[in-house]
Amino acid sequence: MDFDVEIQPVTADDDMLRSVLADADLPPLLPALAAVTGDLTMLRDDLHLDPLHMQEPQGGWTDEQVATARELAFEAIRAYRDGGSRPAPSPSGDDLGRILSWMAGTELSGTYLPMLTEELATGAADLRAPDWLKADIAPDRDFRVAVIGAGMSGILAAHRLEQAGIDHVVFEKNPAIGGTWFENTYPGCRVDVMNHVYCYSFMQKHDWPQYHSSQDVLLDYFTSCAETWHVPDRVRFDTEVTAAVYDDVTCTWTLELDTPDGDQTLEANVVISAVGQLNRPKFPDIDGRDSFEGDWFHSARWNHELDLDAKRVAVIGTGCSATQFIPHVAEQASELTVFQRTANWLVPRPEYQQELPDELLWLFDHIPGFSNWYRMRLFWRTHEGALPALVVDPDWDRPTEQSVSALNQELRDLLTLYLELEFADRPDLLAKVVPTFPPGAKRVVVDDGTWARTLKRDNVSLLTDDIDCITPTGVRTADGVDHDVDVLIYGTGFEASHFLTPMKVVGRRGIDLHAHWDGNARAYLGVTSPGFPNFFYLYGPNTNIVINGSIIYFSECEVHFVTQCIRYLLEHDRNAVEVKAEVHDAYNERIDEGNLQMAWGVSGVNSWYKSESGRVAQNWPFSLLEFWEQTREVDPDDFHVV
Ligand code: NAP
Repeated sequence: MDFDVEIQPVTADDDMLRSVLADADLPPLLPALAAVTGDLTMLRDDLHLDPLHMQEPQGGWTDEQVATARELAFEAIRAYRDGGSRPAPSPSGDDLGRILSWMAGTELSGTYLPMLTEELATGAADLRAPDWLKADIAPDRDFRVAVIGAGMSGILAAHRLEQAGIDHVVFEKNPAIGGTWFENTYPGCRVDVMNHVYCYSFMQKHDWPQYHSSQDVLLDYFTSCAETWHVPDRVRFDTEVTAAVYDDVTCTWTLELDTPDGDQTLEANVVISAVGQLNRPKFPDIDGRDSFEGDWFHSARWNHELDLDAKRVAVIGTGCSATQFIPHVAEQASELTVFQRTANWLVPRPEYQQELPDELLWLFDHIPGFSNWYRMRLFWRTHEGALPALVVDPDWDRPTEQSVSALNQELRDLLTLYLELEFADRPDLLAKVVPTFPPGAKRVVVDDGTWARTLKRDNVSLLTDDIDCITPTGVRTADGVDHDVDVLIYGTGFEASHFLTPMKVVGRRGIDLHAHWDGNARAYLGVTSPGFPNFFYLYGPNTNIVINGSIIYFSECEVHFVTQCIRYLLEHDRNAVEVKAEVHDAYNERIDEGNLQMAWGVSGVNSWYKSESGRVAQNWPFSLLEFWEQTREVDPDDFHVV
């Protein structure tokens, strides 16, 4: 896979330029052209990008503003072409700040600028790479890191460790790279975040085939990244870490491994768990589940051998996974019965399954840095995105299950209108699909009209009755009706709150991590817990996002912090760092307060964001910038240093 954009000189005539610009996304194009020409005057005040309208096409500009912007873009590309397609030196300092601020529609200052500069990563810059080498700071020290998992986070950790010259090994239970994108192969599986932001900041890919690529394309992307970094050479595939045990005397971890050659052990100074949150399939606790005599499987373990043609199929669940595969099953099955416990909010996204248009690809190929600015504008749009609409207004007087603020109600009205339009001809279905919780209390489902089209099919029934039990022949609902089927598919999600299970982790003085968490996983900065020195998590407790940002950004921040901890150990010739309990507890109090101010924290609806105790164990309630800030540097005062 080629990650570099091979920029070609502009030779197109004026007519061709005008046709390329006819539907171009202008808010990211003008910053790119300002950067490439060095002429910042095109970023005019009368083309202010209002942050309140940033989700709208062309940033909510009027037709007149769009025409002005298009003309400015045309003149700039023409001048660039006529000047021999020679880009100006990359902007930096104040100029870069000005371009970023214009793109954001607000004066950016402080840490925003370094954070966004890292994300922009023009010229494939890798500004989050470690700027230190073990060979320089601790050349003679034996030091080894074990990474558990070779998915999106694990391969990133391995790459950063390699860049710093740290000896490491990665254990992967599967036979290949990819984690969730390796395991989830169900039909229709695709990323519900725009692809240009769902990639590493320093390994940006511009020529995605679609705005939201399918699983095979994503698996190929992550595999190619890993291969580019030679990560597979450091991975022990088909090897599951069953336990990690800390030795208080040597300050090392012993990993117990289930390998193709039998049980083994390995010692490491630091362990990085990159096992993900959404990878252990969850089956519902429904009576009679084992009695079903037909074929059955979970969405994350799709049975591709089983032909669903002309079969009677039942699906339990209507979350993000199920809404992706149900349309495909509906095309094959003779009858499809969908069991929905909770209706989800649909977010309309017409381009969800569309291919990138040639005009956009032309701009990526001919305007240096445009693909970075395109990604940057998406990053900015999604970065806090609709988050303010999910914040609880304590004075809001409507029931929490309806909305949590005036803005949240506005969002609810918009999303309800979408459902009313989609199901206008089917009031029976409309009554079933309007959610009874505030937008943002659960993950939204991205939709391009497929969901309504599917549910309206003659061979599809949407049932909202409670499930009483599973019988040898199908599913019995609470009204006593038996729904007999040949195949039962569980789209029932993952054991998300059971972080790190089924691995046993034993820390200082024999503390068991799962006993310590007691079903309520917590961590400091999402990456480490008191009692577990030198043990770090990626995508750990309270590092998930609901409606804004991309989880890859979080992994990049977390890996940066963990490598900073390793650097600290090496630079100061220390054996271990362990977060202080009081620091961890104060941090988590703040996280809990933050989550209680969000729609997902106050709503009583079912969701995988909560542990059994009802605490939100998954989500990060604050801004993306704040996560970046808190993972920048290690404060030794926060840790016991051994
Ligand atoms: P999920 O969101 O947890 O959905 C599970 C579904 O099963 C829900 O509809 C749930 O109903 C239902 N269910 C569970 N137990 C049940 C029971 N006992 N009886 C009836 N229904 C039951 O799982 P998911 O759809 O696999 O998605 C998990 C997360 O993975 C997503 O939120 C998303 O973050 C990620 N994901 C991402 C993508 C993507 O990017 N393309 C795709 C898929 C998943 P309730 O709602 O009532 O609990």
